[in-house]
Amino acid sequence: MTEKLFIFDTTLRDGEQSPGCSMNLDEKLRMARQLDRLGVDILEAGFPIASQGDFDAVSAIAAELRRPTIAALARANQLDIDRAWAALKDAARPRIHTFLATSDIHLKFKLRKTREEVLKMISWAVGHASSLCPDVEFSPEDAGRTDRSYLIECCHAAVEAGATVLNLPDTVGYCLEPEYEKMFADVKASVPGIGNVILSTHTHNDLGLAVANTLAGVRGGARQVECTINGIGERAGNAALEEVVMAIFVRRDVEPVHTGIHTEELYAASQLLIHLTGMQVQRNKAVVGRNAFAHEAGIHQDGYLKNATTYEIISPETVGMPANHIVLGKHSGRHALANRYRELGYDLTKPEIDRAYELFTQLADRKKNVYDEDLISLVNESFEHNPELYTLKLLESVASSEGRSTATIELERDGQSFRESATAEGPCDAAFRAIDRITGTPGTVVDFSVHSVSAGADSTAEVSIRAQFQEMDFTGKSLSYNVIEAAARAYLQAANKGVYEIRRSVRHAAADGRSIHENELVDRLFPGGY
Ligand SMILES: [Zn+2]
Repeated sequence: MTEKLFIFDTTLRDGEQSPGCSMNLDEKLRMARQLDRLGVDILEAGFPIASQGDFDAVSAIAAELRRPTIAALARANQLDIDRAWAALKDAARPRIHTFLATSDIHLKFKLRKTREEVLKMISWAVGHASSLCPDVEFSPEDAGRTDRSYLIECCHAAVEAGATVLNLPDTVGYCLEPEYEKMFADVKASVPGIGNVILSTHTHNDLGLAVANTLAGVRGGARQVECTINGIGERAGNAALEEVVMAIFVRRDVEPVHTGIHTEELYAASQLLIHLTGMQVQRNKAVVGRNAFAHEAGIHQDGYLKNATTYEIISPETVGMPANHIVLGKHSGRHALANRYRELGYDLTKPEIDRAYELFTQLADRKKNVYDEDLISLVNESFEHNPELYTLKLLESVASSEGRSTATIELERDGQSFRESATAEGPCDAAFRAIDRITGTPGTVVDFSVHSVSAGADSTAEVSIRAQFQEMDFTGKSLSYNVIEAAARAYLQAANKGVYEIRRSVRHAAADGRSIHENELVDRLFPGGY
């Protein structure tokens, strides 16, 4: 029997802090539940000192999920560590994860501290964390570029102070595989007491080596790997969880470890993250990309049809990817829909099925073939709990290749209807401006993507929008057969979140006796991370 490799997911921390991936509390909880179904061993839920939002997300996830260890990140100081511990107080299995840079570059330019000072800080921080929590992980940030003998001293200090996990990050994605592997072997060979500590990898993909380095770290002795769904994360991202897991699964003939991941939940996890953040993966992305299992070339297709294993090392079912066949049409009933969802791995409650069925019939009225991909998008959409201040009642759009486009929008709020028209260069922009006139809160679209959910000219369009209202970013997603309508609905969803947040902040300020300018609402102080 091979040894167990612990999967540490940091989608909600390292992943979430990267541009375009921020999620609200409800979205983080939904992602966390899917990570739990996936079977991750440790779930890093956030960086509690970073913002109230991060603190609340860690607390909520720690209170709800009982199986996985819930980790919270903290810099090596008392304020951070105490805040992390406060967020973890309801966790069944809490872990404080504290970090401090150890490379000379970081010591000189970022921390402005000597090696001796940093060693003392490590001992103190790990000791303090251990006095609160039995499970403490320490990361010497930028370990990959840290002088080896000093790194060993730092690891020794952390182990002596009570660290249970030592994570050696290649923070900047600089290491090559043999170097990364050797770092683990060196630490394992030279740090006294290391036998009782789990070594961990944390890699970045700046040179496209994150997954390869993770596997190299495992060869060097690591028994925990830090990774994210779809490889999201700072800059070029972190090691993609699905790739690491499948490499170990497919090559179990040579890999020294196994994981506890339920691989058939990988595709659902990938899709949910795409849905929540609007961040697509490229079509040829390993394991979860749309083309990952497509066999187009004639000679490949011929071989594949004779025997799938000629060109396929993973079957789509292993990762939970639905086969691309037509499943349902407008005459399919609620029962058939519920069954199909069960086959796709979604255990829906009665109200969820009702909501999904309502959306399904709307879609099936306008589109002949409803594919599995449509159903997945639908259910992701129907689980959304967004503030719905305004709902869309009507959209009329006139687009022309000659001159400007016009849109008329009717929104309803508290039973009252509002109607406005606007013109702009394009039909989507015209619809957005008409919405702005009604809500009185103009937004700026910073990201807009359209994605066809399934095959065929009658495919459903999924539009993801990121828009700024009062300098705060909000996302919206919607699905429709009509691209302009999907865009208008997605924009309205972002606008509803924006209007809701702005009013909430103004109310809070008023309750505290403060008067604040709406432009001062952005208080997302972000102290970094590694
Ligand atoms: Zn990182």
